[in-house]
Amino acid sequence: MLLHQIINASKKFYFMKITFISKFSYFFLLVFALSFHAYSQTIKVNQERLTTLIKDLSSYGKNKDGGSDRVAYSSHDVAARKFLIEKMKAIGLDVSVDFAGNIIGKRSGSNPNLKPIAFGSHIDEVPNGGDYDGPVGSMSAIEIMQTLAESQTSTKHPLELIIFTNEEGGVIGSRAMAGQLSVEALSTKSSSGLTQAEGILAVGGDPDRILEVKKAKGAYAAFLELHIEQGGNLEREQKQIGVVEGIVAIEWWQFTFKGFANHAGTTPMNSRKDPMLPAAKFILAVNETVLSYDGAQVGTVGKIEAFPGAGNVIPGEVTLNLELRDLSSEKIWKIYAELEAKAKAFAAASNTELSIVHQEVASEPALADPIMQKAIERSATELGFSTMYLPSGAGHDSQEMARIAPIGMIFIRSKNGISHAPQEFSSSEDIANGANVLLQTILLLDQELK
Ligand SMILES: [Zn+2]
Repeated sequence: MLLHQIINASKKFYFMKITFISKFSYFFLLVFALSFHAYSQTIKVNQERLTTLIKDLSSYGKNKDGGSDRVAYSSHDVAARKFLIEKMKAIGLDVSVDFAGNIIGKRSGSNPNLKPIAFGSHIDEVPNGGDYDGPVGSMSAIEIMQTLAESQTSTKHPLELIIFTNEEGGVIGSRAMAGQLSVEALSTKSSSGLTQAEGILAVGGDPDRILEVKKAKGAYAAFLELHIEQGGNLEREQKQIGVVEGIVAIEWWQFTFKGFANHAGTTPMNSRKDPMLPAAKFILAVNETVLSYDGAQVGTVGKIEAFPGAGNVIPGEVTLNLELRDLSSEKIWKIYAELEAKAKAFAAASNTELSIVHQEVASEPALADPIMQKAIERSATELGFSTMYLPSGAGHDSQEMARIAPIGMIFIRSKNGISHAPQEFSSSEDIANGANVLLQTILLLDQELK
């Protein structure tokens, strides 16, 4: 209606042949009208309602320190899930709980032959965690479904909102969906005190049928997750939206330098076999080597032990752990090779022996699909937000979903880069911005994916 009026008005001006109104003016008026039309058509989430929903969820498991004890399978988790299931039903979703306890809310599309576009996150927290890691993505997904219902927006693809079971304790729900969860893994204890199997029962799943949760590769047209960054990159660079390139691979090694334990007072400096020396040089080398490469790779020595571990004894053995993370496994191993060579040289120079054990953490990189990344960037840019591409240094349900679907992840700013702590915070505005980017990305993919 408005568009029509503006176009007509601009046409009128044009035909009035007023000399200072050129063809260019007509062109600009038309562009203005079209962009205004596009803007007015963009549906947006309700920021206030989303903020309230996150606050309501945070009341489940709030402890006296202001942190959240809503660990997976706890009574707080069970109660919160019940609250959300009712909420999802109230906005017209077809809600079910699969055998792994994942909550799934379905909304049909106009073309039932198309695979669903899925999106969601988790609501469980680490012990004494915050209110945003998980809830931001999950509550935004609910708000998006409500916005779509209210605006009577239909999509061609069916939509699926997923709230995954026990993300913090080993991405249990998404692993089951990706077919990566073994029956044996269900006997491990979770933070709630229950085993995974007992916990899954407590949230309405069925551990005996866990293998049936597995989805075939290609079961979803896409999986999208909105999440807090859990780092300080967006804040530092003053960008609003992070387009995640992927979730990094993690590799661990244990380095042991072996020398000879001896009296610290009576053994002359030139006749020692002190393994602390190569260990110290190695720690510095990790930092220097990792920094010498372009990119966002990180390397850490987070644990060191000296044996026997006394102030008056030259250690006989020093062990330390090396962790490397990057989106490229190839780069990780290249850096590792350099560090291995340096460690060998340090050991030789100090007359000590070196042994290295590669520890299985079985974490491959999970790359975000290029089409998803482009769709997220385009949606964010069209909404007027600044963006930056970045890897995720933390694990997410998306890394498991990447095994069966093209994934995309959207990050929003975490204040001071803090997460997994009561101080975790993202502003209502940033959360709503992220939710709007997710909403537009879903609508864009609905048009573009075949
Ligand atoms: Zn999370």
